[in-house]
Amino acid sequence: SVLSNHMPTAELQALDAAHHMHPFTTNDELAEKGARIITRAKGVFLTDSEGNEILDAMAGLWCVNIGYGRPEMAEVAARQMMELPYYNTFFMTTHVPAIALAQEIAKLAPEGLNHVFFAGSGSEANDTNIRMVRTYWAEKGKPAKSHIISRKNAYHGSSVGSGSLGGMAYMHAQGGLPIPGIHHINQPDWWAEGGDMTPEEFGLARAEELEAKILELGEDNVAAFIAEPIQGAGGVVIPPQTYWPEIQRICDAYEILLIADEVICGFGRTGNWFGSQTMGIRPHIMTIAKGLSSGYQPIGGSIVCDEVAQVIGATEFNHGYTYSGHPVAAAVALENLRILQEEKLVDRVRDVGGPALKAGLESLNDHPLVGGISIKGMMASIPLTPHKESRAKFATDAGTVGYMCRERCFANNLVMRHVGDRMIISPPLVIELDEIDLLISRAKKALDETY
Ligand code: PLP
Repeated sequence: SVLSNHMPTAELQALDAAHHMHPFTTNDELAEKGARIITRAKGVFLTDSEGNEILDAMAGLWCVNIGYGRPEMAEVAARQMMELPYYNTFFMTTHVPAIALAQEIAKLAPEGLNHVFFAGSGSEANDTNIRMVRTYWAEKGKPAKSHIISRKNAYHGSSVGSGSLGGMAYMHAQGGLPIPGIHHINQPDWWAEGGDMTPEEFGLARAEELEAKILELGEDNVAAFIAEPIQGAGGVVIPPQTYWPEIQRICDAYEILLIADEVICGFGRTGNWFGSQTMGIRPHIMTIAKGLSSGYQPIGGSIVCDEVAQVIGATEFNHGYTYSGHPVAAAVALENLRILQEEKLVDRVRDVGGPALKAGLESLNDHPLVGGISIKGMMASIPLTPHKESRAKFATDAGTVGYMCRERCFANNLVMRHVGDRMIISPPLVIELDEIDLLISRAKKALDETY
């Protein structure tokens, strides 16, 4: 059977429900409502099978940084497929796309982070990180230094390893996660959990949980701490300014490797190339994916500091993926980095798009449901609350109001995600000022309809 975008939507939805298993979705939802079928996209707009033009304020899954429909990306992919569609990087072979991409990433990364281990996704890259930090300490003669500390409500991927690093309770409830040796401390979410503390007091208290956990496990048993500079899927949690300096001090004091998961924060989202620069931290390893290729090809990786790379490479690291450094994905990612630089999109987030998005979102602060905006660069959240001053939660199950708002956004041709009762905004970095106005007006309409 040959399917096409021109077939009736209901027919495609029925086939989708019959054969296609979706991530994070129930069969009933698919059968009753039918998935929205996206047929094409350009810039910041998606088109669906009914002809609606939907403003994508999530850049897909936080990834389409350069926007949709860039012909240069397709041309690069086609050229690379004709020349060398695939070869691996195992067993002493390499190719120019992988070399060039690794070199370019090293150029853009903070000083001392000069080595890239490629993967097919962020999940795979975080699995690499688990094995890499444990192997590093074993090679240094400290095999007991194998425990990894992460945070509750963190998202680091869906594989067994990365899902274990993540701290989502509903994910741990399925499939036997977490694997042994992974520990979770609380996140620095002042809005939801700060109570009567000032953000500064709260940030410090939450950072000190890392020290307490290290002391509980024994510093000789702890390999690494992993966190996003700004937590994305957990609800765009921007830590109070006291948080990261204290975490950095603790990692330095106890010789703990710091892994910054830059899968969302990386490649411009926060107004610098990496979230670690925005938050002033010095990681040993950074996880990358998403904005590395703007989602045009699946690719991820770990950017590794000189010391760790030297130790890991001193003997054979028995690890790698068939698609590590895939030539088409690498060529496409390289073109994406060229576009980000040529169009100065990182500066644009910091100086133009980010401030405009902030001003637009702050205009929603008067809305009775809005509990105050959190934003850094082009990564923002709107907590919904029945009472702003006390940051109260709704009497309904957590997420009910957020879900309603997301549905109202969708009905108004705006993609916004919800995390519990918090709305999330992470548009393509290329979004124009008039498109930000449209985003805000659709968001306001959705909020009004939710209220
Ligand atoms: N790390 C973070 C911070 C993420 O947000 C995600 C995905 O959302 C991942 C890792 C996993 O990446 P992937 O879905 O490419 O496996």
